[in-house]
Parts: sequence; structure tokens; C-alpha cells
Amino acid sequence: MREEVREEVREEMREVNEAAGVGAHERAAFEEKLKTYEGRVATTTGAGKDPVNEPMIRHWCEAMGDTHPSYQGPDGVAPPTMLQAWTMGGLSGHQGRNEAHEELFALLDGAGCTSIVATDCEQEYLRPLRPGDAITFDSLIESVSGRKTTKLGTGYFVTTRMDVRANGEPAGTHRFRILKYAPAARSTQPPEGPGAAPEAGRGGPSRGKRPRPVVNRDNAGFWDGVAARKLLIQRCGGCGVLRFPWLPGCNACGAAEWDTVEACGTGTVYSYVVMHHPPFPAFEPPYAVGLIELAEGVRMVSNVIGVPCDEVRIGMPVRLAFLAVDGEWELPVFRADPAGGSTGGGEG
Ligand SMILES: [Zn+2]
Repeated sequence: MREEVREEVREEMREVNEAAGVGAHERAAFEEKLKTYEGRVATTTGAGKDPVNEPMIRHWCEAMGDTHPSYQGPDGVAPPTMLQAWTMGGLSGHQGRNEAHEELFALLDGAGCTSIVATDCEQEYLRPLRPGDAITFDSLIESVSGRKTTKLGTGYFVTTRMDVRANGEPAGTHRFRILKYAPAARSTQPPEGPGAAPEAGRGGPSRGKRPRPVVNRDNAGFWDGVAARKLLIQRCGGCGVLRFPWLPGCNACGAAEWDTVEACGTGTVYSYVVMHHPPFPAFEPPYAVGLIELAEGVRMVSNVIGVPCDEVRIGMPVRLAFLAVDGEWELPVFRADPAGGSTGGGEG
């Protein structure tokens, strides 16, 4: 069934292109031109900005939570997965980059494939890297795919291969794939239904629909709870620690078992930002994004509503509310709750 749907999308794309006068000939010529970039050099003798060094290894291991003893001490080696890190140009960019890369991207931009997304990377390790190793690398455009239609849009996969050397010896290969694509047309219809974007704003309809949450195996239980207007926090089955956002395992003890606790709905603003710029479809600036500390102790990012955004303050009591978005799904948000600071009887 799914294959049939994809086939329909392809058919629609073909119709769109034909209507726009993009015939099979033009497309074949374009794709032939793209193929001429395969095998062309993208970087010649790039040099790592720093030799392999202990501080970068230590920062990486801290960020990754990797405490493996091989990466520590005077005889430590670099984690193999750091391979690309030693070749990165940083904010000031790369030197020695060849025009082929720029040309290919300009060609794709010109064909309307103006968006880019990294899809995957493969690495091969040939020798361990040790502090003091000087890194050099070459890269080439390994392949440009035929035209592919994905959920994001239609475009071309470009695979770049980088060969990394340490003190002149082969140390590893890093293959990096991106999709350059023309974004699929988005629905620009205004929200429908009585529950549509009630807090979206003053001053006219905002264009576009609010982005939908990405629901996967690991967080489906959370969104099921939200649909039932419950905010569920995960509780570790091993050590009982509460965690949010949802994760497949416990950061405290590593246990994979868990159950849930329903949040009572009260909390305070732990931190916040007020978004003015850049504007996003479906969001009417300015609006407040808060890091909310729930009464249970975990924190979550959400919108703070029900108060002018310049009056949001750290420590402000808030209370859970559910926003019906586009009349289709619910989103947990937090409403300023002036009464929430006082304790004692009543609802609190
Ligand atoms: Zn645990």
C-alpha cells in the first residue's frame, strides 16, 4: 500500500514537472551533467587545524559520556568516531576546498534544490590516532544519485568521501551523504475547525501549520498521554529516578525498564527566552519559550501563555494546560498561574 502512495507522489511530481515544461530531455541532460562531478576532487591536501590532542579528546569523551580507559592517560588514543572532528574547519571555514563542490551545489540550487539535509555517514578506521598526530586529508565527490523523491521533497543524494591521514599514513575514511532537494509544497490553507490555533495570535492569521511532533517508538507513550490530556513523566524501573524528555534507558543506572507518573501540572519558570526573530510559519512573534521546572522536579521546554511575554519571569508559577492545535492534536503548554505561588488550601 505504502509503495502505491509513493508511486502516486512520483506521478504527481512528474505531472508538475511536465506542466512546468521540464521535459524528459532536459532532465536527462541535467542528470548527465551532475554525473560529471562524480570522482572530482572537493578538497586537496586539507590540513587539520590542530594535531590530535588530549584536551579535544577529553572534551569529546565528556560530551559523549564515554569513560573508556583507552581514551585516558598518557598512552590514550582518540576515540575512532572523532575522525571527522580533526578535519573540521571551525567557524573560519576550510582551506583548500576545490571549486567542484561549489559548482555542483550551485547547479543543484539553480534547479530548485535549495534545501539540504545530512542523511548519514560511514567511517572506516585504519589506525588509531594518538596525541601529536598531524592530520591531513583529501576529499572527493564520490557519487551523485539519480533524482529521488522523499517525504521532504525531490532531489539528489551527494556522497563525499574524505581520506584522512595521520603523519602521512592512511588513518581512516569518512563518507558523508547529504540530500539537496526542492522542499515539497506545503499546505498553506488556514487552520480549520473551532479549536484551531486559539493562542496563535493577535493580528491576523499566521501562515502555515504548527510543526507536528516527531512521534517514535521511544516517545509514543508521552504523546498518547498528551492526547488524553495527561503529562506523563518516565520513572526508571531500576532506580526510580524520574526523567524527561523520554528516553529508552535511564541515565542514572542504565536500566531499560520504566513506568510513568502523571505530572500534577504545577511548576515554575526555571528559565525562558522571548522569541522576536526569526519568524517561523505558524508562530506569531513575540512569544515566550520557557524551561519549566515541574513540581516533580524534571524540566521541560514549552510555551508560557496567558501573560504578556515581557512579564514572564524566572520563578513565576505556572500551571499545565493543553492547547488544541489545528483542531487535530494537543500540545502541553504552561499558563501563568498567579495563585500558584501561594500554598495552603484550595486547588493551589
Ligand atoms: Zn535508573
